[in-house]
Amino acid sequence: MYDIAIIGGGPAGYSAAINAKILNRSYIWFTGKTPPKKVIKAELIRNYLGLSDISGENLFSAFESHIAALGVEKTPEVVTGVYDLDGKYALLAGKNEYEARTVILCTGVETARPIDGEDEFLGRGVSYCATCDGNFYRGKDIAVLCYDKAFEHEIEYLCTLAHTVHVIPTYKDCGVKAANAHMHEGYPVKFTGGMRLEKVLFKNGELAVDGVFVLRNSFSPAKLVHGLKTEGGHIVVNRALATNLDGVFAAGDCAGRPYQYAKSAGEGNIAVHSAVEYLSK
Ligand SMILES: Cc1cc2nc3c(=O)[nH]c(=O)nc-3n(C[C@H](O)[C@H](O)[C@H](O)COP(=O)(O)OP(=O)(O)OC[C@H]3O[C@@H](n4cnc5c(N)ncnc54)[C@H](O)[C@@H]3O)c2cc1C
Repeated sequence: MYDIAIIGGGPAGYSAAINAKILNRSYIWFTGKTPPKKVIKAELIRNYLGLSDISGENLFSAFESHIAALGVEKTPEVVTGVYDLDGKYALLAGKNEYEARTVILCTGVETARPIDGEDEFLGRGVSYCATCDGNFYRGKDIAVLCYDKAFEHEIEYLCTLAHTVHVIPTYKDCGVKAANAHMHEGYPVKFTGGMRLEKVLFKNGELAVDGVFVLRNSFSPAKLVHGLKTEGGHIVVNRALATNLDGVFAAGDCAGRPYQYAKSAGEGNIAVHSAVEYLSK
């Protein structure tokens, strides 16, 4: 079991990870499968202390050099669920489960809104994890709503199991080539069904399916951690960045505005110190 689990690979996550390392705590750091888009896409950053007029790509390189120098390790997985086990937390990432005494949420703010019906059919036809749930759909017809190229190997895996895989990429140049993969354009407006999911609806049309996999890099914190208090899309925290759940802390954009690199990095630091104080009680 780890002392600290850090979820999120942006500035808040990097800062939390280096501070956990420096404070000699055992930690696991889930970064998601892709580099942090809100860092690498920034053209010019003028307000990050000590690094004036730096591009997002160069800031990211500086973060990478820093963790390399300290020997900080990443786990490039997306966490799909955090469960309270009475004094510790279980974290689900892919088909692996991890345990930690404290959790620091550094997930950023959600930009992709959930599809209408996504929450309703979660576990009843909607899944977030190909390796965990793919086997349930052997020989069946499924859809995959894919938000990032990094997940394409999961679609290829699903193609080895399912009869038909309707692929709905939210980006250009999807590279999935399997014979039973059918590409679709457009964005679903709704998931519908009865006891279980039955259809994916588009503005002009629908797909009849037994299940749909939604493969994205982030989830709203309230969906990730049951019982977490949020307000206006942010996690409610106090000055120590503690949430309403014992041992769960939040840092960066997910904990509130302003959305800034320096605030996120600073809060990653505070959250680790608060977690360490909590652990020593
Ligand atoms: C184009 C652009 C330019 C900007 N310019 C500036 C600027 O000049 N100055 C400034 O101060 N700020 C700027 N910002 C804002 C800044 O990018 C954000 O405030 C900052 O990146 C927030 O850091 P964060 O660590 O809180 O979250 P993010 O950077 O959003 O990182 C969160 C990371 O966690 C990952 N994640 C989420 N959920 C999970 C999960 N369940 N499991 C694993 N990983 C997960 C996400 O994929 C993401 O990589 C800019 C933003 C954009 C988009």
